[in-house]
Amino acid sequence: MTLNIRFLGGASTVTGSKYCVEFDGKRLLVDCGLFQGYKQLRLRNWNPMPTPADQIDAVVLTHAHLDHSGYVPLLVRQGFKGRVHATSGTKDLCNILLPDSGHIQEEDAFFANKHGYSKHEPALPLYTKRDAMDCIRQFHVEKWGQWFEPIPGWKARFTAAGHILGASSLLLEVAGRRVLFSGDLGRPDDSLMNPPEPPPQADTVLIESTYGDRSHPTENLDEELSTALKTVAARGGVAVVPVFAVGRAQAVLHSIAQLKAKAEIPHSLPIFLDSPMAIHTTALFGKHMEEHRLTADQVQDMDHVATMVETPEQSKALIKRHGPMVILAASGMATGGRVLHHLANYLGNHRNMVILTGFQSPGTRGATLASGAPTIRMHGKDIEVRAEIVQLSSASAHADGNQLLDWLKRMPQPASQVYVVHGENQAADTLRQRIERELQWRAVVPEHDSVWPA
Ligand SMILES: [Zn+2]
Repeated sequence: MTLNIRFLGGASTVTGSKYCVEFDGKRLLVDCGLFQGYKQLRLRNWNPMPTPADQIDAVVLTHAHLDHSGYVPLLVRQGFKGRVHATSGTKDLCNILLPDSGHIQEEDAFFANKHGYSKHEPALPLYTKRDAMDCIRQFHVEKWGQWFEPIPGWKARFTAAGHILGASSLLLEVAGRRVLFSGDLGRPDDSLMNPPEPPPQADTVLIESTYGDRSHPTENLDEELSTALKTVAARGGVAVVPVFAVGRAQAVLHSIAQLKAKAEIPHSLPIFLDSPMAIHTTALFGKHMEEHRLTADQVQDMDHVATMVETPEQSKALIKRHGPMVILAASGMATGGRVLHHLANYLGNHRNMVILTGFQSPGTRGATLASGAPTIRMHGKDIEVRAEIVQLSSASAHADGNQLLDWLKRMPQPASQVYVVHGENQAADTLRQRIERELQWRAVVPEHDSVWPA
């Protein structure tokens, strides 16, 4: 009997994280994410799982981002009956993110049918808001640092990964072996989140590599935002900021609150947070005070700096307003959500600006904008890009190559095997080479749907 890991997603790509740990006829799925980005990746969401859902005994989520949690509603619909173990923060966020994901998919299918631009007849949602709300019943909250048994005889424990609220690394102990899943690791110098905890000792490590081939520049978010917002305010334009509702939205709000307090940007510059999800997530910072660096006052300031735009009607009414103003709206890679109608409305004017706030997966509209494309496609139409496109280099919620290596180095003893996951090929392979060269640990970049010993 060997302990194996089947890489069902998050292998040679940043999305779709799903690692199936198999031993003695039992199966634990670590993360259950959606594929996003390139169409050939997104199509994988429609394929039946190579490991049938009803043969999976339990799921553990490292954090709530959809590329780690967004497949849970579908897994449940396909017959998964077990528990979904997560930290309290992850459950709170999934409660916000998953129903929204279902809602967006229903909306996309509705639009496609109405305008007839889908190749499928009729276009169907991957899952519905109802599916997403139903699956939350199977969630089970686990405490930080405490062992739990997702499967009888299998022990698991969460440590803080500093990436977003609730984000964790997972240590799994099965059949005398210890396997550590890094999850998405935050930056030790993040403006919002506490630094990741050092890794506990393990035999095998799966480490993320989103920025495995990069080092983050030292300039900080406040400086970059201040420059961009001063520019757009001076020319009376509108800054559209696609934000990840969870994480980057709050970092940007916190930074804007500080810039206003220091009078570095005009106090009168109107800021709108046009994302119910981001609004609800911002409120959660007050509930999970132990996970981040903000004081109660700073949480309040972050909450008060923007006008909250709750309803779709209020969101559409923003279009009648004139600049200068700043609109933060999800999704962060402009793959869906309210940011789309703002982009459609403001991209055509050179006075306006789009501020991209984090990693843009290849194949997303965000990546297309970052590459300087003259047009982008939305709801079946090509939209001309005349607005200035700014990509913030400092607004990443992920550790860079050096920080990932530093994290590994803090493990008391070398691991016998490292699997480099959650990165595009170039990033993953660069990190693999550095682990082999600088740490002299064995490292592999697994291919999609490959099986390796744990
Ligand atoms: Zn993440």
